[in-house]
Amino acid sequence: MTRRTLLELAALGTAAAAAAAAEPPFTLPKLPYAFDALEPYIDAQTMQIHHDKHHQAYVDNLNKAVGADAALSKLSVEELLQRLDTLPAAIRTQVRNQGGGHANHSLFWQTLCPASKSGNPSGSLAAALQRSFGGRDKFEERLQAASLGVFGSGWAWLPVDQGKNLVLDSAPNQDSPSLAGKRPLLGIDVWEHAYYLKYQNRRADYLKAILQVINWEFVSHRYEEAVR
Ligand code: MN
Repeated sequence: MTRRTLLELAALGTAAAAAAAAEPPFTLPKLPYAFDALEPYIDAQTMQIHHDKHHQAYVDNLNKAVGADAALSKLSVEELLQRLDTLPAAIRTQVRNQGGGHANHSLFWQTLCPASKSGNPSGSLAAALQRSFGGRDKFEERLQAASLGVFGSGWAWLPVDQGKNLVLDSAPNQDSPSLAGKRPLLGIDVWEHAYYLKYQNRRADYLKAILQVINWEFVSHRYEEAVR
């Protein structure tokens, strides 16, 4: 073995060690079901592109924004979003948009499930929906109206506010009620990438469909955690 080769091997070892040390802080979570699990309401191709391309891009861009900063890389995405105002100005918008995208989609996948398992809001969430909106049906009407009312790209949200009340919110881009200190239980993604392949311009049809695949057990559990 020549001296040069040994040096090259040494350099390769150093590069591998550096790469391992610099493993990106954020990774794409696995979908908790198959791409086609939400058919016929949400089609497999939309799910695959939405998760593997769109969500992956939010993760990659968040890693680009904070990956070079050892201290920020140790924080969770929720912690980053909670301290947006203290972040370097140069990365603040990227963390808000890309970190918001990562956090919102990570929640979104968990709030969906096959229609056969969708179920109903639990006793305590059902009671809160009654108090705040006059029942599940009226809540779903209001959620659809809020979702239809988002101009351009954004989300409609069901959060618990600081007084532990259920409220309805909507927000542009990848903002969420957590930026205002509320705890989001459920968000409806109304970016066109969430529905355009199957529903084109028919956002109302997408909204009716997605309400068939809400994981009410998960949302109810999240409610109980939020008001505990
Ligand atoms: Mn999306």
